[in-house]
Amino acid sequence: MSKNKQHSFSFEGKVVLVTGGAGGIGRATALAFGAAGATVVIADTFVDGGHHTAGMIVEQGGKALFVRCDVSQARDVEALVDKVVATYGRLDCAVNNAGIEEEHLPLADTDEAAFDRVMAVNVKGVWLCLKHQLRQMQRQGGGSIVNMASVAGLGGAPTQAVYAASKHAVVGLTKTAAAEYAKLGIRVNSVCPGVVNTALLARALDREPERAAKVARIHPLGRVAEVSEVANAILWLSSDQASFVTGHQLAVDGGLTAI
Ligand code: NAD
Repeated sequence: MSKNKQHSFSFEGKVVLVTGGAGGIGRATALAFGAAGATVVIADTFVDGGHHTAGMIVEQGGKALFVRCDVSQARDVEALVDKVVATYGRLDCAVNNAGIEEEHLPLADTDEAAFDRVMAVNVKGVWLCLKHQLRQMQRQGGGSIVNMASVAGLGGAPTQAVYAASKHAVVGLTKTAAAEYAKLGIRVNSVCPGVVNTALLARALDREPERAAKVARIHPLGRVAEVSEVANAILWLSSDQASFVTGHQLAVDGGLTAI
């Protein structure tokens, strides 16, 4: 039992993988799983950040391992899942959170290189992760996967055409994997956040404080989400308390998609 258990869900004895866990929402999610008793594997291309997240979990009394992995590379993803299984014997829950955005531009001004970069990480990366995670979960007889989509995966997102297309693809992968693997005891869901208060956003709003109120106002709840609020939704979907929920896209968006 971790000495500083402080989350309302219990993942005691569970092995959880979080991609993109070196910062932002991924770090908050990894920390929340750690606090709930899970053994957490953090995968990211940002080595210092990944080690830092793992160190924070160990400091709070949990168990964690960092593995460098570029989710857009088949060999890296295969090696990642092999490493998790070689080290801990199984993979109970996976959170495919690693994702990137490009400069906001009207569709006609977006370029091919940006399209390829976003699709490689956001779509191919999630597909590769699913492929290897599902194989392992199939071998062990069950598991739960949460993919990181976005409100941009549920509707149009002006100036973010490629990002929106990539997140719609994540929703398609989620629904299909859920339908295919339900019989094998594997649940697959996605979370769809609105705007989240990450360090990146905070810095952007520091530069343009007038934008802060505008960004907050697009959400009926009148503010942006905290990373812990997205992490809480991911932990619920991953937990046995969501045992009859699969193929679902959970909007964590302060009501944004309700209007
Ligand atoms: P972030 O940039 O803080 O975190 C993303 C992490 O993914 C970083 O640690 C980065 O190093 C890692 N990463 C990037 N490319 C990678 C690759 N090829 N392989 C492995 N790791 C890689 O961003 P965030 O805001 O925490 O976003 C996390 C996820 O949430 C993304 O999928 C993003 O699209 C989604 N999202 C974010 C928001 C928001 O407002 N921040 C809203 C909706 C959805």
